[in-house]
Parts: sequence; C-alpha cells; structure tokens
Amino acid sequence: MGITRRDFLRGAAALSLAAPALRLRNLAAAPAAGAAPPGSELPAYRSWEDVYRRQWQWDRIVRGTHLWANCASACSMMLYVRDGVVWREEQAGVYEQTNPQLPDFNPRGCQKGACYTELMYGPGRLRYPLRRVGPRGSGRWQRVSWDEALTEIADRVIDVFLEDGPQCITWDFGNMDFGPCAAAQMRLFGLLGVPTTDALAGTGDLPLGALQTWGFGAVDGSADDWFRSDCILVWSMNPAYTRIPEAHFLWEARYRGATVISIAPDYNASSIHADLWLNPRVGTDTALALGMARVIVEEKLYRERYVQEQTDLPLLVRDDTRRFLRARDLGGAGDGFFVWDRKTGRIARAPGPSGWRGGSLELGELDPALEGAYRVRVAEGEVTVRPVFALLREQLAPYSPQRVAAITGVGADIVVAVARKLAAARAASILASFGSCKHYHADLLQRSMILLLALSGHQGKPGGGLRLSAMWSLSGFEWLAGAYEPPFWQRLALSWYRPRPATVERHLAAYVREKHPFQPILLWLWYHGGLRELLGERDPELAVAVDKACRLGWMPIFPRPEARPRIFFATGANALRRWPVPQLVREHLWPKLDLVVAVDFRMSTTALHADLVLPAAGYYEKRGIKYAQSYLPYVVFGDRAVAPPGEARSEWEIYGALAQRIQERARERGAGRYRDALGHERDLTSLYDRWSGGGAFPWSDDRPALDFIVERSSPLAGVSWDQGAAAGAVRIRDIGMYGPGNAICSDFRPGQSIYPSQWFVERKIPWPTETGRQQFYIDHPWFLQDGEALPTYKEPPADPRYPLRLTGGHTRWSVHAIWRSDPTMLRLQRGEPVLYLSERDARVRGIRDHDLVRVFNAVGSFRARAKVAPAVQPGQVAIYHAWEPFQFPEWRSSQDVIASPFKRTHLVGNHGHIRYRMYALSPGYTPRGTPVEVVLDTGAAEGAGCRRIAGIEGQANL
Ligand code: SF4
Repeated sequence: MGITRRDFLRGAAALSLAAPALRLRNLAAAPAAGAAPPGSELPAYRSWEDVYRRQWQWDRIVRGTHLWANCASACSMMLYVRDGVVWREEQAGVYEQTNPQLPDFNPRGCQKGACYTELMYGPGRLRYPLRRVGPRGSGRWQRVSWDEALTEIADRVIDVFLEDGPQCITWDFGNMDFGPCAAAQMRLFGLLGVPTTDALAGTGDLPLGALQTWGFGAVDGSADDWFRSDCILVWSMNPAYTRIPEAHFLWEARYRGATVISIAPDYNASSIHADLWLNPRVGTDTALALGMARVIVEEKLYRERYVQEQTDLPLLVRDDTRRFLRARDLGGAGDGFFVWDRKTGRIARAPGPSGWRGGSLELGELDPALEGAYRVRVAEGEVTVRPVFALLREQLAPYSPQRVAAITGVGADIVVAVARKLAAARAASILASFGSCKHYHADLLQRSMILLLALSGHQGKPGGGLRLSAMWSLSGFEWLAGAYEPPFWQRLALSWYRPRPATVERHLAAYVREKHPFQPILLWLWYHGGLRELLGERDPELAVAVDKACRLGWMPIFPRPEARPRIFFATGANALRRWPVPQLVREHLWPKLDLVVAVDFRMSTTALHADLVLPAAGYYEKRGIKYAQSYLPYVVFGDRAVAPPGEARSEWEIYGALAQRIQERARERGAGRYRDALGHERDLTSLYDRWSGGGAFPWSDDRPALDFIVERSSPLAGVSWDQGAAAGAVRIRDIGMYGPGNAICSDFRPGQSIYPSQWFVERKIPWPTETGRQQFYIDHPWFLQDGEALPTYKEPPADPRYPLRLTGGHTRWSVHAIWRSDPTMLRLQRGEPVLYLSERDARVRGIRDHDLVRVFNAVGSFRARAKVAPAVQPGQVAIYHAWEPFQFPEWRSSQDVIASPFKRTHLVGNHGHIRYRMYALSPGYTPRGTPVEVVLDTGAAEGAGCRRIAGIEGQANL
C-alpha cells in the first residue's frame, strides 16, 4: 500500500528533526512541481512509521560533495541512498594524516552541507524548463519542453549574431566546479566568442592590492600550514564562520604556542577564540597597518637582506619626476632598474628582470642602500635619486602610534606591541581572505598588509605570509573548458614556464587581448547597467577616467557603450542578488535585454527575473570535482547518487544540447560565419562539432570528459575517475600549473604543508611585476597625482547625512544565497534579515531589539529587523551576506543601498604589470563601509517626508 501525503505529514510532525521524513514529505507534497523521485512512484511504505523504522537502512552509500556550492572548502560526504532518494548525508573521514608533526584534516564538513538534502528536495527546487508568461519578476511561468526552450534560445542567439555580433551577448560567470558541467559552459561561450564578465570583481573578491604589489592575487597555501605559524593575524576574515572545516588548525596552533590576533571592527565568532582582539573603526585598518610598519622601520626591526633582495624598496627613484630611475634614463634600452651599491659607492643595475623577462633576484656581492640621496647623470643632466625605502620612511612618518590610535581607536601601546610581535616572530602570517578586498580603499590595505610581511621577511617561509585564496589547478579541466589541449611540445614548454610566473602573466594578458573577450563587470554595469548615471553624475572626474581607460584600451568593454546588450546568460551566478544597486540594474539594463536565461537548480532572485529558466541537476545528481581550494591538499570527487528530479539536467547536458541546437538551427537558417569582438572568424554551423571535440565528448555522456580531466591533471597523477569517485577525496600529487587561480608559487613536497611564495624567496625567481620584486612603489601618473604611489591611509568616502557604516560578512548559515532560505538554517538564527546595531546607536534612534528598521542613503533603502548587539561598535551596522531580495519587505535588499564606487587608479592599464587580464586589475565591487542611516520603521510610504532623529545631526530624507 502506498503512503499518503497525510502519513508523511504525521511522520514529519512526530520526527521534528527526522530529516528523511521531511524530505519525503516534500517529495509527496509537491507533485505539481514534479517532485516525485525520477522514474518511480513513491516507494511502498505502509505509513510514516515505516519511514521512521527504516531510516537507518539504505541501498547504497555514494561519495558525493556540494559540487557547485561556492564555499571555499571541499568536503567528501557519504550519501545514503534508498529507493532513489538521498535520505541523509554524513561527513566522510577520508583524509589520512601524512605528517605526525601536523594535525590532520578530519573531520570536514559544515552544517549546510549536512542538510543539503533539504534543499535538494525543497519547494524551491526547479524541475522543468520554464518560460515567463507574465511581466519579468511577476512569478508567472509556463512549463515548456527542453526542445522548445533550446530552440528559442538558439534562434535568439543566432538573431543577435547576425544583427549585432556576439559582443551583445554576455555570460555572467558564476558558481562552478572543476568537472565537466563547468567546463561545458566555458567551452560553449568560449567557442561562441561571447564576452565573459570577471567573477572575482563582481563579488568583491578581487585582490587589487596583491595584484598591484605582486602581479597576482591567488595566494594561499594549505590550512595545516597555519599550524606552523607562531603569530597569526586574522585580519578581515572570520574563519569560524567562513572556513568551518579548517578553523581548527588555528585553534590547534594556539596549543602549539602561536598567538592568534583577530583584527575586526566587531567582536565576531573568531575574535572569541583569539588571544588578542583589535577593533579598528570601520575602514581605518590601513592606518593600523602603516602604524605597525612605522614601528618596524623606526625600531630597525626589518630584515634588511630580505628587503634588499625581495622588494623594490632599494630601487632608486628620481626626485625630479618621482619615477623610477630606468635604463632608458641613462641612455640604455628597456626598463632596467637601479640600486645604489654601498660597497662600490656607485649605482648598479638591480638583479632580476626588467619587465617580463627572466633572471634571478640573487644579490651576490651587491649591497643596495636603503637610505640616502645620490646624484646621478641622466640625459637631461644631473638629478637626485633616492631608494624607495627612504621615501617610505617619509611616507610612514605621520603614522605615529598616537595618531594611529586617534584614527583607529586601537591603543597606541597595542599598535607597538603587535608590530614588535609580528617582526620578532619566527613565522607570521596574515589570514585576510576576500574580506580584505571589499572596501573602497582595499587596495591600500592589502598593499600595507604585504608591506608589513615583507619588511619582517615573512612572505615565502613556512607558516608565513599573506593568505588570500588559491586553488590547485587541474590542467585537464582548464584544457577541456578552453576546448584546447596543448600539443606535447607545448606541454613541455608549459612545465618549463611553471616557475616563471612573469611569462605566464604575459600570456594571460595576451589571451584576454587577442583570444577571448573578458571584461570588467563593473564597467559593463557602468555603461549598460546604470552605474554611469549613478556614480558618473556624482564624480565627473571618474566618468572622464572611465571613458579614457576604455578609449586607450586599458579596459575592454563589450558591447561598446553606444551599443545595446541583448542576451544575458546567468549560469548559477545570482546577479540580481549580488550586484550593486540591483534596482538600477533592473531599471537600466533589464529593459535593454531581449532575453535573460537563468540556469540553476533553485529559483533564485535572478531566475525569478529571467525569461527562460533551465533546471539544473543538484549537487548529488551529477558527477564532478569540487573546485580545489588550496586549504585542503586533496581533490574532492562528487559522484552521482541519484538522477535529477523531473526533467532537470546536468549542465554538461544543458550546454552540450544547446551547442547542438545552435548548430542545427544555424544550418537550417543558413547562418554561418561571423567575426567575434576581437576579429576572429568563427562558424556557427560547426559549433557542436567543436564543442564535442568531433564526437569525443558527446553531451549525452560525461564520462569521456571526466576521464580527460582526471588523466591530464598533475595533482591527480596516476588516479582514475573510478578510483577518485570511490575514495571521495584524493591527496594531491602536485600543485598544478601557475595561473589566474593558482599563484601559490611553491614546490610540492609530499607530506609537508604548503606555503606561498617559496619560489621567489628560496629559488630567487623574480616576481611577475614590472620591477621583478614585491613592488610597493607605483609610478603611474594617476597613482602619483592621487598620492597612492606608496601605500597610504585615506578616509573612506563619507557623507554626513549618513553617519553609520554598513559592513557585513559571510554568514555561518549559508553559502552565499544558497541555504539562505532553508528552514533548518533559519531556525539557527532569527529567521529573517537582521541588521546588527550597537547599543548606543540603537538607543539614540529609539530602536529596540527586533524592531523593524529602515536603512537608507541617497541611493536606496531596505527594511530589516534590528538586532541590538554589543558585538558591533558604535558607528557600525552589519548585515550578514546574501539574504535573497525576496526575503526582505518589498523585495528590497541590502544591495539597494550599495553603489560600489571605485577609484580611477583601478582603471590604470598598460603600465608594467598594472594591466587588465583575466581575474586581474579592474574596478572591484566594494560593498563594505557604505554610509547609511537607520531609523525606526514607521510604516510610512517611501519618500513620504523627512524626519529628525534625536541625537543625530542633519535630516534624513526618507
Ligand atoms: Fe564542506 Fe562546503 Fe559542503 Fe559545507 S557546503 S560541507 S564547507 S563542501
């Protein structure tokens, strides 16, 4: 006898925490949405008691993971499958200890991953292709067949190609894994020549300061290396929330004697575990870093030989032009740089490269001066030159501990003590992650953090250095995604390039310039999504700078500003949830678009505003490889436990079938050759032939693609897909090739933890910067004019009408917006968007805990519940990350107040290593520190008038 819906409701009620019953209830409760297990009726249970009795029985256990969840971790899970349903998941303890000196990686997992089956079978799950039948965002949908959906998309794509070209189609690169599904979309849009937007810049994860100083940003090591550090600054990172599987290494390091110092404006969950908590005022961290750097310089705590060899601080700068003294100044060729050799009393060419060329940083007999002023003869006559270090000393002079204390609120004695501690440490590290990328002046903060570590010689040693984010690179994935496998001789050359990041960076710049159109997302939104109207009007100089940067080719933009973007593909990225001022994007961009296609496993905000929604397989319903974040020296495999529900398909199938349909329709319509935005001739009539590698990778079977990835990826050397899928996780055998996601730049040593930047410090390989060194001085005219040639502290943009600063952070209860609306996760918090507010700020505004408040500035407003919390400091308000707009009243989210201004220095290109390339230098999203005001929500209509707030200067326009 089959069970009834009522049986399961009773079962669920009786077993309030019995997730399997809840899951089956969802399956039973939503037949209209196609929720039944694929290809079967519900199993023959007699009643809900049967569900209970059999909850510990299963047909098989599959090793899976949360493939496209954009968490910075990877965890192998055991998936318990019965009757075609995944009933529960548990952490798999598959990480062997390979070094008795280091803690192991067990256990790994988080509470979101432990209840993914709720989302998988939840009411928001997409099961069938949907076409909008009401206005965009109205929620009125019509179910269509895959055939109809793919044909419609194919025809629209061909129309745009014929009429305006592929540059009028934009693909927003979002969540992904390292498996065939992610490769499928990259392969399709790459072969089409459709412009790709920069994912890192769009999420505020672009490490501009690191890119400016090092030429790369993907810097990190394995998490067990934290254990080798004896001074750890957890700075703008909250690992207790965001690195749940790895955080234990931090606390274990304390058992070994390490000092953990948390630097955050609020008393967050990681600060609780720290030895010391520093809480600078929001946006003043750079002053703190420069204050510490001053102590290190003034007290001569810096490591002189490291500074001479590894940094640009000994390089000579002309007093007259404030530019580096270059070889061409002396009548030579190229961009060679110079030091003053104390031994000979003469200038000498600095070891290492000029520009992109090779060389070594070995100083040999040289003894470069760090202080002083010297006279040298150049073409124009005699000029005075000084080492960058001397300029730095002057630059740091204003950052006395007392002044830093006044700026930041951190005690002067603490500034001095932490600086001394850092300098004296055997190995010190700064865990900064992407939190250090999200402020308006985040570049200056990162440059200052690196300066601290460089002065004290910690970058490039075990347990030391700045930790941002990096991945083991899987060449097989990259080649499959790029639809290009280098021939043997080229692979040989690539392995030669491995310790030559400068050469690879040059190729990456050329790739973006000549092969595939990438573009900075904020500039695309500037020209096409309303940012020009918003930011350009307020800052005309910035508008001039943007136009100039695009005109000079420093920054690419597709289509050109005068053209209209026509199709937008959102493939897992939730653009309308995460972009700044989405209300403006909907107003300016959305009407221009003929077609918005969303591919997702759930109904996200972006899917809600799409024209066609394609249902993707969930994490346990497809095969893939979790992207290989370097915290874990394993590659985690995800096998398919069950088939997708309804008609959902894996992305491998979706994009392959779309490629095939475009090819078919192009042949039927006689639409063939075209030129892409970079001038390359392409052919729609052979699109699928190329996508499938001439039939080697059919969309109906992902296995050849899986084998290709695994067999050609050096971190997985000697492992097959079957072995990996059975094991769940495979210990890496190699770090993989240097690239946009992997700038670890260290040799792989089996059994050892991995730390970044070893090549430069131990092997003396030049850094991929213009000077070949960690470069703190940038002599581009815009940097000089704006006073940012060296790291400096600047107040973030302020507005006296909006005296509070909005901050945030990734939450413990979701991975971005995924799990944000999951009932189990909501039960662990307040269950709706909350704004953290200090007791003082709440009191002067007459706000009590859980009141509904309105947060606003000149850009927009949103409403949320107040959470009066002593953890945040006066002047700060915080809303944790990634509530979906539909969870707010009127669907207005915290993004509505974030304009994300950027600086003109972020537009500079074609200046040494300061040049745009994939995931590199361009304006980034800056959500943190936005000026806002908060008032008790009175229920008055928007724009109803003004209101004076007790204790606060000025009037706030509601
Ligand atoms: Fe691990 Fe991420 Fe899954 Fe959590 S969501 S268990 S961190 S892979």
